[in-house]
Amino acid sequence: MATVKKRELDLKDFPAGTVTEYTTLVCLACIFDIFTKQLNLAPRTAFSEIKRHTPTIEELTSRGAMRPYFDSDEKHPHCPYCGKAKRWLARFDTYCIEGGKTTDAARRALLRKLPKAEDQFVAQEKKSDSGAVFFEWLDTLGRSLDLNDETWLIDASRMYLERREPKTNWDEVFDGLRAVRRSSRLAEGWERDGTRLFLAPSLYSEALLIQYLVSRSHAHGGLTLEGRLTLMELIRRLRYSGYLEHLGISERDPSEVFEKLVNHLAATHEWSRVRTGSGSDRLIVAEKKSKTKKVTKKKTAKKSTKKKPAPPEPEVIVTEPVKLHYLIDRRDFLEKVKSVYGSYSS
Ligand SMILES: [Zn+2]
Repeated sequence: MATVKKRELDLKDFPAGTVTEYTTLVCLACIFDIFTKQLNLAPRTAFSEIKRHTPTIEELTSRGAMRPYFDSDEKHPHCPYCGKAKRWLARFDTYCIEGGKTTDAARRALLRKLPKAEDQFVAQEKKSDSGAVFFEWLDTLGRSLDLNDETWLIDASRMYLERREPKTNWDEVFDGLRAVRRSSRLAEGWERDGTRLFLAPSLYSEALLIQYLVSRSHAHGGLTLEGRLTLMELIRRLRYSGYLEHLGISERDPSEVFEKLVNHLAATHEWSRVRTGSGSDRLIVAEKKSKTKKVTKKKTAKKSTKKKPAPPEPEVIVTEPVKLHYLIDRRDFLEKVKSVYGSYSS
């Protein structure tokens, strides 16, 4: 096989925010060391074992990698355990695709196109739920932004909108954009006026919430388009703008309100699926709620033999199950293992 250069997968058919990419480096000197010294395998056996090796999803996606895996943003990384450089380092690229109606067809088409030999690509599945998916998305969003540069507020608004309305061409909408503002005339949706983007109050409120969630661990309080806000201040604004009423949140206790807000955002992870194209946001929220409950009930009835399903609590917005599809690109790893083995066996 010819030397494999890094070939990017074509992910343009997936809506923004539905695919998360992870890159993990593995040191082949360390992995050979583990297989030959700790597991006492002969080099040839170690080679064939390592060639078949696929790290766990946990090893590929967690932030704190362990030997022989490590993460590095450097252009010329070195193994943090043994100091080896380029020739000894291979990378695994892992793509996590949120399952669902907006991605299933694109995912199947992508899988069909990939080479099959030698497990160059390995597909795995994991059950998750919309809450976990939402927080993972938020975490990835936070890591991709430079919170010391104020333009991140516009970028975060954009990523939220991309996730909410994947079919819109946001490149065009955000081209040359200087500011995002609350609209005083729109009841729903958004409009661009010159270099400013105006969002309907509920969209704007959600953009503020996302900004708060992204930055609250970075700053005291959270940074938003409305400046630095404590949780109390944020909730006061959302109440004043009618957003809490819009969602039917009547609690006074800030932590209860906050929990409900986060649950609401998490439960609507696949916003595009519930958007009907017409009708108000309120309708969509109501529709979403009943849909979510139905799915969850079915699931509980089918799955749970030990636990009795909890009695329905109309106040609670439950998150729904989501299947995560992982696609692991092993091409670079396979190539490097072969070249390194050459130097071991000679
Ligand atoms: Zn190493």
